Amino acid sequence: MSNPFNNSMSQLNTANKILKLNKKTLAALKKPVRVLTAKIAIKMDNDSIKSFTAFRSQYNNARGPFKGGIRFHPQVSLNEVKALSFWMTVKTAVVGIPMGGGKGGIIVDPKKLSQTELERLSRGYIKVFYKYLGPKIDVPAPDVNTNSQIMDWMADEYGKLTGKNQPAVITGKSIKFGGSLGRDTATADGGMQVLQALIKKLKIDPKKTTMLIQGFGNAGANFAHLAYHSGFRIIGVSDSKTAIVDPSNNGFNFHLIEKIKLGKKGFVDVCDCKQIKCHCRNHQHMSNGKFLQQKCDILVLAALENQITQSNAGKIKAKIILELANGPIVPTADIILDKKGIIVIPDVLANAGGVTVSYFEWLQNLKNQKWTKTKVKNKLNQIMSRAFNEIWQTANRYKLNLRTAAFIKAIDKIAKAKI
Ligand code: NAD
Repeated sequence: MSNPFNNSMSQLNTANKILKLNKKTLAALKKPVRVLTAKIAIKMDNDSIKSFTAFRSQYNNARGPFKGGIRFHPQVSLNEVKALSFWMTVKTAVVGIPMGGGKGGIIVDPKKLSQTELERLSRGYIKVFYKYLGPKIDVPAPDVNTNSQIMDWMADEYGKLTGKNQPAVITGKSIKFGGSLGRDTATADGGMQVLQALIKKLKIDPKKTTMLIQGFGNAGANFAHLAYHSGFRIIGVSDSKTAIVDPSNNGFNFHLIEKIKLGKKGFVDVCDCKQIKCHCRNHQHMSNGKFLQQKCDILVLAALENQITQSNAGKIKAKIILELANGPIVPTADIILDKKGIIVIPDVLANAGGVTVSYFEWLQNLKNQKWTKTKVKNKLNQIMSRAFNEIWQTANRYKLNLRTAAFIKAIDKIAKAKI
């Protein structure tokens, strides 16, 4: 498995061939400001004690407080967390919000925990790291396998430990705990905004466009919903268990997309082909590996990192790839995709809608305000459009792909701030 931190540093080096940063700035960008590691011991429901490894990487705060999600996954590693925190640093600069980059994680399969164990673990994360967190210091958020309920527990625990209620310490909370309207769909909304901007430049009609979506969680499922309603023909979707495609190329019907979105249990549960009334008629199941190689116009990657590597990049048939996930394409694969003329909308732009609305939530908490959904959406659209246009212009001016253009724009902003 390729090392995501090495991959992220390779992207930095590519951008630096053009940027030519001074040695001190480059060295500062090559390591996190601080990396925290801890063991969280919790009582399990059967009274045994179990210990979990947790991380927080505070990569860079030159432009504002460290900002980034907390991932609960068995494959969380220090290198993954460091890479994700670097990408957060770049992402906040891409969209120009006054925040830096951080990321956290716990090595755990949360599906194997009861709700009470999950709550103890989430609160445990704050107990071990709360001295390093704060609204003006480091502001976590949800990521893979974490959600608004977990953020509510974490914000509550932070309040208990510090003796004052400070909702701005964590974003992605539920609305009743100070969350922002529009945060749940923000990543998908931002991704759709930049995809629409790109296809407009390329004069492509969504209705004539086939799409595959890998990953069906917060990012992927919300995106599928939006894409369906924007007229894209979704011809395949996948989750960690399976992939389904529509070989007729007509696209799945509304009922199926709705059903999958509401089901939230993965396709094996929703698409139970043994049922007489199968909602996924005219579909084919296939492996996740084969799924990525299906013919389509747009491939949306919304699962995990390292999905397109040197070994499968040559077999990708999409014309456009939207990286809703972080780091789904490794740098060696990027070179192959580039040569094939495939346009990649990079993660640091494509999924930046999430952190942008997290920033709105933080602002609302600090100012004790409640913005309407329309205000959130309008402000998000403005920011995403501006970021896309800046990157598009840079890419065209210097004949670069969108990833390198995004890194150049972002790192230039970070370098100009105090490191
Ligand atoms: P999630 O836990 O809600 O969903 C992840 C989905 O990916 C699940 O459907 C899971 O079954 C699927 N999956 C896992 N492995 C897979 C595989 N090999 N093939 C196909 N599907 C697979 O997580 P999420 O919040 O949707 O995050 C997904 C990605 O988007 C992550 O890389 C995350 O960092 C990134 N992201 C999310 C947000 C956000 O606001 N949720 C913001 C920015 C970036």
